Amino acid sequence: MLGTFNWITIVWPMVASACLVLGLIHLRIVFGDGQRAPHLFFAIAAFAVAVVSGFELTLLCTSDLARYQEVLRWAVVPIGIMVAATACFIRSFFGTGRLWLLVAGVALNLVAQAANLLSAEPVVRHAVDLKQVTSFGGAAYTVPTIINGSWERVELLSVLLVLAFMADASWQLWKKGGRRRAVVVGGGALFFLFVARGHAVLIENGLLQTPYFVSFAFLGVICAMAHELSSDVLRVAMLSRRLRESEWRSDLAARAASLGFWTLDIQKDELWASDSARALFGVSPDERISMNRFFELVHPDHRDAVKRAIENSLKGSGEYEVDYRVQLDDGRIRWISAHGRTDFDEAGKPRLFSGALADITERRQSEIELRQLRGQLAHAGRVSVMGQLAASMAHELNQPLGAILSNAEAAELFLKQDPPALNELADILADIRKDDERAGEVIRRMRALLRRQDMECVTLDVNPLVQDVFRLVSADAALRQTVVQLDLAPDLPGVEGDRIHLQQVVLNLIMNALEAMGAQSAPKRVVMVSTRRGEDGTVRLCVADSGPGISEASLPLLFDPFFTTKPNGMGMGLAICHRIIEAHAGRIRAENRAEGGALFTVTLPARAGVSSG
Ligand code: ADP
Repeated sequence: MLGTFNWITIVWPMVASACLVLGLIHLRIVFGDGQRAPHLFFAIAAFAVAVVSGFELTLLCTSDLARYQEVLRWAVVPIGIMVAATACFIRSFFGTGRLWLLVAGVALNLVAQAANLLSAEPVVRHAVDLKQVTSFGGAAYTVPTIINGSWERVELLSVLLVLAFMADASWQLWKKGGRRRAVVVGGGALFFLFVARGHAVLIENGLLQTPYFVSFAFLGVICAMAHELSSDVLRVAMLSRRLRESEWRSDLAARAASLGFWTLDIQKDELWASDSARALFGVSPDERISMNRFFELVHPDHRDAVKRAIENSLKGSGEYEVDYRVQLDDGRIRWISAHGRTDFDEAGKPRLFSGALADITERRQSEIELRQLRGQLAHAGRVSVMGQLAASMAHELNQPLGAILSNAEAAELFLKQDPPALNELADILADIRKDDERAGEVIRRMRALLRRQDMECVTLDVNPLVQDVFRLVSADAALRQTVVQLDLAPDLPGVEGDRIHLQQVVLNLIMNALEAMGAQSAPKRVVMVSTRRGEDGTVRLCVADSGPGISEASLPLLFDPFFTTKPNGMGMGLAICHRIIEAHAGRIRAENRAEGGALFTVTLPARAGVSSG
């Protein structure tokens, strides 16, 4: 009979092969990555349906009662596996359903199967008679007369428990919002399991005289499950395509912005870097980068800072931000700005450490050039102010030089005496030395202001600095018939700053004050320079004059570069002052005094714990 080729011998093997193919596809997914359990249960259920289909075909084609009974007895095993795997699939795919219902149903089914296989006679169901029927197309098949055994009720109860579990799982998923999945998979499984078992009940009670169609019914379940699973697979494929596109776009953006990306898998100790990140470090795309290799590339001056930043990020702060230099293998230096973040797992352990790198070499280069330019500008400003002081300086130098000349002439006269007046000579030489020192001091102060360009911060006392400038300008002030008064607070804290640059500020402010009072009558020309300790931990320096003050229109523009009201002015003095004070984290303000004249106030942050007498 089995050798006969008809629709029965075609359809049942087709069901089996369809299920085998589907099962194999999903078994392949199990060994891939991602959510494995639903695919595994699906594959088991599909293989079980294929086996059930084989059992059914055998039953259809068997006319020997003893053989029929044996096949029927063993068919309970794949049917049980099929039902259990379907239920487990629903549980793992939905994540819902009462577990105890599932466990009770599967366990009871196992017990019924064990009883059925271990007892001498089948206890679930057995065939008592077989009948040959010829269907359309001339295909003949066997129809049994079935009698239920004593354990049939147990098996039926196990199926009912599984049905209850499926209904519960689908209902809970429905409530959670997964309606389509609940209807297609849950509803489908419920319907087909109900149909398969109901059909068997009808056959077993003699109400229907047809062969078993369990595998057909389950093919419906398998199709519903495959549909949902494949829609997941399709979604993943679509997401991965989008991800590739977005990766491509971000790579494009990264290239345009000279950005590189990296990720350190801390648990696996694997460092991944994008091609652009590798290019920044001069590393080939296929070279394996270890943390040691990375630190080798970081310039020795920055290694400790980078290590510290990484440790801080991994230990808890999470954030990582550091600028450092890398030394490329060809000797070139590149500045890198790195920003990153640590991702911690639920236990608070660092998991992933990733971020972006930017090439900031050009920016750094321009910063250096800008700093140099500012230094040169400030220097030019000092030279120009010193130019204004040249006349008074020459006058100040003339005095000691004149005194030295007259003393030298006197010494010559004393030497011509017989005997030479050595006592007087000693006095004259002491005078010459004193005058020489005075002249040397004037030159030293000038050279100090004209020399250096770069800013060098040290802890400073403001008062001696003001006194130095006072000495420098006092001759000029005297020429202009102006009084410069000092009112220096004795208990000033120190400040962090560059002596020359701060002196330049004081010098500019005093020179501006002197110039502003040019039109004033002599007795009224007073410049008051005072220092005070601010309440908020600051040091305040004020330069007040009795000149005409600043017009309302000029006030907001005073610190702008090239703003001047003087015919030969450059308009850079106050702009440079503003820049210098900003670089010292301080403030400079201009206002008019109520009693007339201008007042410039410089506020500098005090250095904690340092004070001058
Ligand atoms: P410059 O001295 O070359 O003009 P500054 O930047 O030093 O450049 O000063 C800008 C302008 O600020 C001056 O032209 C002047 O109008 C105004 N100014 C500065 N100091 C005073 C002051 N003490 N009294 C009145 N105006 C002042």
